[in-house]
Amino acid sequence: MSDPRIDLHLHSNRSDGSESPAVVMRAAKDAGLNIVALTDHDTTDGWDEARTACADLGLTFVPGIEFSASHRGAIVHLLGYLVDPTEPTFAETCARTRDDRQWRFEKMVDNLHHDFGGMTREFAYSFHVEGATLGRPTIARALIDLGIVSTVSEAFDDLLSSSNERYYAGHYAPTIEDAIAIVRNAGGVPVLAHPWTSTRTTLVAEHDTDEQISARFAELVAAGLAGLEVHHEENTPYGRTRLAQIAAEYDLIVTGSSDYHGLDTKPVKPGAHTTSLVNFERIVALGTGSAVS
Ligand code: AMP
Ligand code: FE
Ligand code: FE
Ligand code: ZN
Repeated sequence: MSDPRIDLHLHSNRSDGSESPAVVMRAAKDAGLNIVALTDHDTTDGWDEARTACADLGLTFVPGIEFSASHRGAIVHLLGYLVDPTEPTFAETCARTRDDRQWRFEKMVDNLHHDFGGMTREFAYSFHVEGATLGRPTIARALIDLGIVSTVSEAFDDLLSSSNERYYAGHYAPTIEDAIAIVRNAGGVPVLAHPWTSTRTTLVAEHDTDEQISARFAELVAAGLAGLEVHHEENTPYGRTRLAQIAAEYDLIVTGSSDYHGLDTKPVKPGAHTTSLVNFERIVALGTGSAVS
């Protein structure tokens, strides 16, 4: 039998994806995947629905999360696989981040309302599923509906960009070192998401020297980092090469994933990048907080 096709980073409407967990798993099945993780931002709410859908579809389900973290005043993302969602520090941190994301959502919507009258809180919330983690893609969908932009990416290019001082607001997140410790303490496997892109804030700054970058990753490994998402649409070609070298240097798990957010959000499809069986098995061997099913 050929190796299974494995995608360990997909989003549903329990955070900023546009489709329900069951629809996302259906899309994963249709894309020829065999093993899939649901990794919504700062919530594990979609696990039950995704797990049931995977059982029906004959897919292996990997419980995951994309945990917000902070680094030099900006937000970076940490994937956490096989965490125990009931571990108190983990659960409290997720709740605190989600609460602050709500405050920040309203702040950004209010900022936009000054210039775009139709962007009321009520209107923006109409694009949100009750209880889901709030993020900028929901505001982007409201901006599209108002005819202010035509795609989510166009909204991120300017109005929703973190460099747009008129509209942008940040949100709480633990430091990346604390985030790694929190995921580990909940039995999870921390893997740095899209660590080397040109468009997002990442751990790597453009002016960093090679030595500074190596030292930065050494600190994260010492803090308990287990892996790097090397194969991701938004990592630069040079970044992927360097990340693969760094992973080899520290014997880190290497993952590849789509970061699917639904068909309307980004062009990327489930399975656009995949993780090898060997690396998947390393995650399974390390995670103790919840189980693959
Ligand atoms: P937030 O979590 O609210 O800060 O928003 C960032 C999220 O928006 C990321 O996790 C991505 O899922 C999504 N995102 C970032 N850039 C883009 C883009 N250019 N197009 C679509 N979605 C994006
Ligand atoms: Fe997202
Ligand atoms: Fe992310
Ligand atoms: Zn993601």
